[in-house]
Amino acid sequence: MKKIAILGSTGSIGTQTLEIAREQKDLQVVALAAGRNVELLEAQVREFRPQIAALWEEQAASDLRERVKDLPVRIVAGMEGLLEIAVMPEAEILVTAVVGMIGLRPTIAAIEAGKDIALANKETLVTAGHIIMPLARERGVHILPVDSEHSAIFQSLNGERENPVHKILLTASGGPFRGKKKEELYNIQVEDALKHPNWSMGRKITIDSATMVNKGLEVMEAKWLFGVELSQIQVVVHPQSVIHSMVEYEDGAVIAQLGQPDMRLPIQYALFYPQRRGMSGERLDFYQLSSLTFEKPDLETFSGLRLAFSAMERGGNLPAAYNAANEKAVALFLGRKIRFLDIPEIIGSCMEQCRYVPHPGVEDILETEAGVYAYIESRW
Ligand code: NDP
Repeated sequence: MKKIAILGSTGSIGTQTLEIAREQKDLQVVALAAGRNVELLEAQVREFRPQIAALWEEQAASDLRERVKDLPVRIVAGMEGLLEIAVMPEAEILVTAVVGMIGLRPTIAAIEAGKDIALANKETLVTAGHIIMPLARERGVHILPVDSEHSAIFQSLNGERENPVHKILLTASGGPFRGKKKEELYNIQVEDALKHPNWSMGRKITIDSATMVNKGLEVMEAKWLFGVELSQIQVVVHPQSVIHSMVEYEDGAVIAQLGQPDMRLPIQYALFYPQRRGMSGERLDFYQLSSLTFEKPDLETFSGLRLAFSAMERGGNLPAAYNAANEKAVALFLGRKIRFLDIPEIIGSCMEQCRYVPHPGVEDILETEAGVYAYIESRW
């Protein structure tokens, strides 16, 4: 029996992880955590019978405690609750599927407690890859990527331990506005940006895909996960989302992973690595795939992607500033307070005004986030 704890169990990745737990009978869910969705967490607690469940909000946690008082489950709240789940002795793997920098401290705590991490919460590596990766090596724990592109790269690296990577080819669908120019994006509404052509995901990451900031975050995530130079990562727009990413080796050979756009595959691969398990659902039919096409990303229109390269090049706390600015800007856009094109503007402005810290610790990262939030609140 493999025991897992899930942070963010009510979200898009969290619910798909539970779908896998439903199919794979040797997975046992020992803890669940969410933000404030009491109804869904109650249903999940009743179905999966974890030992601990957490809600971020104290009031929501009290409500849940009352609702499930007939069950032997302990309900906890806030950061303390997330940290308790992160280090609980019963769990072997922590699935980090919360959205945003909230995942940082629990992920570090779990690594320190020797847990493998199935990492969906890319914001953690973006802001603190320089802390997480050496710590994971020191504690001998695996960081198993859940992001489909990073899982594809991870799969393409299998059996190639001795061979240096020449280049990582990170594919991008291009999102709903691929091919459009800046002038055409002035009046984009929230509903337009939430329509992703291939993937069904949470709201924040869907907006990030529309701005291509998601690809920027993924470039930073790839750099940390695979220990390559920024210059070795090339973003390739591939609108069909069939090739999930590729690795080019020194002899020019390119190894890729292909599949349906279904997040359950990378989640399941992370949970059972290095084993592959059966999975329900559609398969690729090569007779039906009429063409696979590739393009260069348009860094002028999607300036959020360009800014990500610049944040990573300068390093220090700038990736944290980039990420925090994006989180806040996306929330403002979803709340209809700013325009779509304001998102990269805000990120650029926050990066410019941020006090540069070359080797940030966790406190510096959290301070950078707070500083960026305060700056945005004062101006927008
Ligand atoms: P969702 O918005 O769908 O879900 C977020 C989850 O986090 C929910 O369970 C939410 O709970 C929970 N949450 C939010 N705030 C807190 C908090 N303070 N404490 C505890 N739990 C909290 O996000 P996604 O599943 O789309 O994304 C999760 C992560 O995975 C992100 O980092 C994203 O970039 C990454 N990712 C997602 C992919 C996808 O296909 N969705 C693909 C690759 C990566 P509640 O429901 O109560 O608000």
